[in-house]
Amino acid sequence: MWDVTIGRRVVDSGAFVSENIDLSGLTTLRVGGPARLLAECPSTESLVEVVRLLDRERIPTLILAGGSNLVVSDSGFDGVVVRVANTTVSLDADRVIAEAGAVWDEVVAQSVAAELGGLECLSGIPGSTGATPVQNVGAYGVEVGSRLRRVQLLDRRSGEVSWVDPSVLELGYRSSVLKHSADAVVLSVEFVVSADGTSAPLQYRELAAALGAEEGARLPSTQVREAVLELRTGKGMVLDPYDHDTWSAGSFFTNPVVSDEQLPQVLSVIGDLLGDVPVPQFSAAGGTKLSAGWLIERAGFSKGYPAESAPARLSTRHTLALTNRGSATTADVLSLAREVRDGVFSAFGVRLEPEPVTVGCTI
Ligand SMILES: Cc1cc2nc3c(=O)[nH]c(=O)nc-3n(C[C@H](O)[C@H](O)[C@H](O)COP(=O)(O)OP(=O)(O)OC[C@H]3O[C@@H](n4cnc5c(N)ncnc54)[C@H](O)[C@@H]3O)c2cc1C
Repeated sequence: MWDVTIGRRVVDSGAFVSENIDLSGLTTLRVGGPARLLAECPSTESLVEVVRLLDRERIPTLILAGGSNLVVSDSGFDGVVVRVANTTVSLDADRVIAEAGAVWDEVVAQSVAAELGGLECLSGIPGSTGATPVQNVGAYGVEVGSRLRRVQLLDRRSGEVSWVDPSVLELGYRSSVLKHSADAVVLSVEFVVSADGTSAPLQYRELAAALGAEEGARLPSTQVREAVLELRTGKGMVLDPYDHDTWSAGSFFTNPVVSDEQLPQVLSVIGDLLGDVPVPQFSAAGGTKLSAGWLIERAGFSKGYPAESAPARLSTRHTLALTNRGSATTADVLSLAREVRDGVFSAFGVRLEPEPVTVGCTI
């Protein structure tokens, strides 16, 4: 039962409250219906107090930061949206500590400007610092899990706040125990960085080639950041309000990992359909990782699918991003997602799984 005093009590906990807000304005896909209350928490203390209060009162709560990995139903969210907005960042010679609401790319930019190395390959990823361990964000050969020293959590089951070792989070490929779970809120994150200003070893061929370097080389982190931002911009993977290719949740599907038993069958189906083409594949925990974008394109969904006039389309620069062309609803995005997922399955027998978190809807 909704307590009518809840808005006032949330304000007393240090948050700014707005009523009847439209969630499409808080997600990068710019879709999603209304929510009754938004509680914006500008400090760690207010975030902890508000979440504890809502949990005590058993009020449905959606933790939201940058909204760049969320697909919210057109009917919205009947509860309180807690916006993570604590933003303090501190840097020293071998570490960066950032509160969860700090904009991730600003944290990377600050670390690079301070001639610290290690975070540069993760430049340009939208959203907040606190969300980076949630799906173990990764790009250009680096996952954030390799840079974490410790993570400060509010355990919502006990109400306790503590710093935990990253191993507790069971980080995997675009996954952790925090994803699809309401058990904890990330309050702050501490990252390991190197004081010599050089990047992590380049592990991604496209990035190394763009820099004219060998794989494994370490370059000044500023140089690597610039190259990453340029590559990402070319794919519509850096947010730009004027560019509909970036009105997305980034990659909509994870790269599927096919087991050793299943792989020969999948490769033979691909061979029957496409002939003797090289299939991009990488060894991964649990088998072999295939490229979701490659499979989508080979299953007949080219860039910009289905048509210029469609409200939701694949990005014109990247088949893995589903985009809102300005008037799309969540239903439009989900319908395109199902069509692509089912098309890839019927062509190759490989099931794609969505990467963003869905709220009040499924694919
Ligand atoms: C153009 C574009 C490019 C992208 N590129 C990449 C990429 O290269 N690599 C990659 O991995 N991802 C990428 N993403 C996805 C997304 O940016 C990341 O997953 C990002 O970390 C999400 O942060 P956010 O603050 O926007 O999270 P939100 O979308 O606000 O939330 C996502 C999920 O995390 C939970 N959450 C958020 N904050 C907290 C917190 N403090 N504590 C507990 N739970 C929390 C939410 O409840 C929700 O379930 C991209 C997205 C876009 C739009």
